[in-house]
Amino acid sequence: MMPAGTAADAAHKAAYSVGGKTYGIAFDVHTHTRYSHGKGSIEDNVKAALALGLERIGISDHGPAHIGFGVSRRKLAAMRCEVDALKKAYPDIEIQLGVEANIMGGGSALDIHPDDLGLLDYVLAGYHYGAVGKKPLASMWRSFENFVTPQGSGTRGLAAKNTRDVVRALRSNNVYALTHPGDKSPVDLKEIAAVCTETGTLVELNTSHRSLAPADIMDMAAYGVSFIIGSDAHVPHRVGDFRSAVDLIIEAGLEPSRVVNLKIIEQDE
Ligand SMILES: [Zn+2]
Ligand SMILES: [Zn+2]
Repeated sequence: MMPAGTAADAAHKAAYSVGGKTYGIAFDVHTHTRYSHGKGSIEDNVKAALALGLERIGISDHGPAHIGFGVSRRKLAAMRCEVDALKKAYPDIEIQLGVEANIMGGGSALDIHPDDLGLLDYVLAGYHYGAVGKKPLASMWRSFENFVTPQGSGTRGLAAKNTRDVVRALRSNNVYALTHPGDKSPVDLKEIAAVCTETGTLVELNTSHRSLAPADIMDMAAYGVSFIIGSDAHVPHRVGDFRSAVDLIIEAGLEPSRVVNLKIIEQDE
């Protein structure tokens, strides 16, 4: 048997056979590093992606409003330099710098300063507890409300407020993908799907947290959205992890072609 971490091991992780089809993932733009609270370096994630044969890898650490591990403007500039150097060292893969911006209340509803957008190749947006904006008490109160409210019960007022923030974030920014919608906060997924279609924002199927039930996926799909699989890897060996998303789309009955980074490598006749 080959020891873990070899090329053969990576090739095995790169393909997943189920229901007469073999699936693969083309790229992964939702990965974290030590710049926020991941365990590996940018280069570690690049190497992991190369071993899987990915055509593109994106680094998307947490936006600056996150207490404790949000990336400052200074860190973003350092990350840009590091990514540009790695692009020269690893020409066989496209390496991009992004951010997982925090969805906040008020303003543009994201914690990325417009002046910093020039450092980035793309922006992901997601809701997280503990992101504190210009109105710290309001941010902390919302985190508390979302934390203590069981999803799906008595959440209509709160869901309306959360949904309004997501919609504002999508309409005021160029958001490539919405990460783990509905995770950690109740929202109106149908309204969000309609706005994602309007703004051309991809809806993430996150393989670290399962935020969407099969029925949610089909409800959102009915609005014409496209989906993207994100590993949300916080350790290099999880980069490109896509299998649970394949199981989920099969369970939901979603056509694989609706997922922009899912490949069908082989199919039984
Ligand atoms: Zn997240
Ligand atoms: Zn993440």
